[in-house]
Amino acid sequence: PGATNSPLLDNLNPEQRAAVTLPNEHALILAGAGSGKTRVLTTRIAWLLQTGQISPGGVLAVTFTNKAAREMMTRLSSMLPVNVRGMWIGTFHGLCNRFLRAHHKLANLPQSFQILDTQDQLSAIKRLMKQFNVDDERFPPKQTQWFIAGCKEDGLRPNMVEARDEETRKKIEIYQLYEEQCQREGVVDFGELMLRSYELLRDNDPIREHYQRRFRHILIDEFQDTNKLQYAWIKQLAGPESSVLAVGDDDQSIYAFRGARVGNMADFVREFGVKHQIKLEQNYRSYSNILDSANELISHNSKRLGKNLRTDQGPGEPVRVYESTSDFAEAQWMVDEMRQLVRGEGLDAGIARHEIAVLYRSNAQSRVIETALFNAGVPYRVYGGLRFFERAEIKHALAYLRLLENPRDDTSFMRIVNFPPRGIGARSIEQLQDAARAAGCSLVDAVSTVTGKAGANLGAFVARIDVLREQTLGMSLREIIEMVLGASGLIEHYKAEREGADRVENLEELVNAAESFVSQEGFGRDAVALPVDELGHALTQSPASQGLDPYRPLADQPLDTDTGETLSPLAAFLAHAALESGDNQAQAGQDAVQLMTVHSAKGLEFDCVFITGLEEGLFPHENSMSDQDGLEEERRLMYVAITRARKRLYLSYSQTRMLHGQTRYNPKSRFFDELPESALKWLTPKNQGFGSGFAMNSGAGRERYSRAGGGFGQDYSRLTGQYASPPVPAQKAAPSHGLRLGLQVFHTKFGEGTVITLEGVGDDARAQVNFPRHGVKWLALSVAKLVPV
Ligand code: ATP
Ligand code: MG
Repeated sequence: PGATNSPLLDNLNPEQRAAVTLPNEHALILAGAGSGKTRVLTTRIAWLLQTGQISPGGVLAVTFTNKAAREMMTRLSSMLPVNVRGMWIGTFHGLCNRFLRAHHKLANLPQSFQILDTQDQLSAIKRLMKQFNVDDERFPPKQTQWFIAGCKEDGLRPNMVEARDEETRKKIEIYQLYEEQCQREGVVDFGELMLRSYELLRDNDPIREHYQRRFRHILIDEFQDTNKLQYAWIKQLAGPESSVLAVGDDDQSIYAFRGARVGNMADFVREFGVKHQIKLEQNYRSYSNILDSANELISHNSKRLGKNLRTDQGPGEPVRVYESTSDFAEAQWMVDEMRQLVRGEGLDAGIARHEIAVLYRSNAQSRVIETALFNAGVPYRVYGGLRFFERAEIKHALAYLRLLENPRDDTSFMRIVNFPPRGIGARSIEQLQDAARAAGCSLVDAVSTVTGKAGANLGAFVARIDVLREQTLGMSLREIIEMVLGASGLIEHYKAEREGADRVENLEELVNAAESFVSQEGFGRDAVALPVDELGHALTQSPASQGLDPYRPLADQPLDTDTGETLSPLAAFLAHAALESGDNQAQAGQDAVQLMTVHSAKGLEFDCVFITGLEEGLFPHENSMSDQDGLEEERRLMYVAITRARKRLYLSYSQTRMLHGQTRYNPKSRFFDELPESALKWLTPKNQGFGSGFAMNSGAGRERYSRAGGGFGQDYSRLTGQYASPPVPAQKAAPSHGLRLGLQVFHTKFGEGTVITLEGVGDDARAQVNFPRHGVKWLALSVAKLVPV
């Protein structure tokens, strides 16, 4: 049915148009990067709404990140006047959260259940293992955490796991205890969100049938990275009347380590009897030098379903490759290059900073890059690293807030019972834990059984929380947070700390985060449940049959399940804090360079992309290099990275790198040998392996950088020859100081250290030296006399 002449279809090629206007049957789009999969998915939703085939409430769309969900909603509201908030668009976790809030009683959860992030989960497991005297050397908590998460991803409760050996039996026991603990505390971890939603759908016929009737269209982006449980969840939701559209690219499957199954695509085709398989072969994102590089690289993988990808855009700029002597130098080079891009000299018009992305394989790499950007005054935003809501001070504040909502949240209780310090010692806490275990109750309920001074102190703490809870009744979210920050003593505590200023700022930022949460998102897209009852009369009707009008704001319309029960703003905000990365909060509104891991760049695109740290052991990662499957996943990851770029792509690697407190000397990544030479431009001479020192600084391709050499004198200290920030590499001739990388040297002020970078010649020669007692320093060799030892 439905019109095929809608203006929505104007900007699509014939294959895309066919996909958007498919009949209401199951379909799979399998296509390469940048071929418009996400665009097709979004446009299909718009088209279905516009042609009246569905109401907003009848759509379920799954995206891979919150950022992607936001983008999809923005696109949709720009295409037609529809209230996107009523639509179920989000990540698997976000949608499950929404579902469980709506049916919390059936799911056996308090409505304001709280979500344990990975960090909380680990500390809950540690606490439990300690309580039950489990040897944490034989059963490292991290491993136990993986075990539990893995079981849940496979849909297994403790009683369903096979106890193959003694060790597994013990792990199952811990899993069981952990579940009891979570249930008692009213908290769920990420895996539990998924598993419990799945079980509720599976076991409760009316609920399942309701949602099956409701979601006439289920659309899933990045389908190649779904795991077993997510696939099973989709199967529960898809009813006889539903159409499922799955969209994916096997070459971009990068979460096998977390249980993702590319095999879900084949299963989907078979089990759903998929009628339509569509291929998209035209890439609209990148110039051909970039696309050719991606295609050639991925052709080295053996396990592929096989697709073609071409572009009509010309070759564009070559892919630029840069070798640096150290990670510091690499970062500095990048900053200089970015400045030129933003200023827009030469061929490129000025590129906005948010159109520049720096991608790296592991989070630990971001610090050096951040420092360089910070020193240069370039605004940047880090995605994914230590999330705003994961910082210690923020977690502390959230723990207070969580206890207001739910005093039985033992993880939060433990976090703050003696923070800021209030004289409650480890002994008292142990006593309390013993009492709680003996009584099988939560910590707060056991406080009254602890006697003596310990009991009095604990009692005072609980009383303090109770008073706060009463005082904050009826307050706005902002007022509650401000009150808690003050009354908890957190602000005061950090103010007194020597390096606490940042933390105080972050705590203040929490107030802003809450403000924007309330104003921008209502109570937050993912966090708030539609008001519902458990299984009201209305629930058995489909929203379409109630005449929901897609063009009126949903708030004005009767909801299928409205009984007026809603979540408090605080509870909604706390769920948001656990699910949302808090990216919004970091330097909101500023035009900033984007920093992220390759994993979190999936699905995104930027005019200009830097892929950094392309060294053996780092990318491909050392943990994945030993077997073929691991290496193929790394290659797919590289494929994802390359295909993020629209106009310009930079690849860089460094002779030395400080990582996890060690200096590494790794050769450049094997991926360089898998790229088409004709698409590359080496900014530094090719094939200069490690050990060549800075001879690399000579030769062709450096002309752009050699003129950037001025200006580094400003941070220069006459006394030590030290620079505050790394100077710009730039030189032509050979060195004469006789130093080499890795050499042990002596400096009169800093003592002994190791040379990790060498640059420049004559008066400009400089070295970066790692001094065990003073850290890494840049030294001007004409001033600082370094003596080999
Ligand atoms: P990925 O695999 O990386 O997720 P994708 O297949 O989802 O990529 P999209 O992000 O949907 O691709 O599209 C890539 C880019 O190409 C986007 O900027 C999109 O707007 C643009 N694009 C897609 N189709 C067309 C088209 N027919 N005409 C013009 N631009 C298009
Ligand atoms: Mg996409």
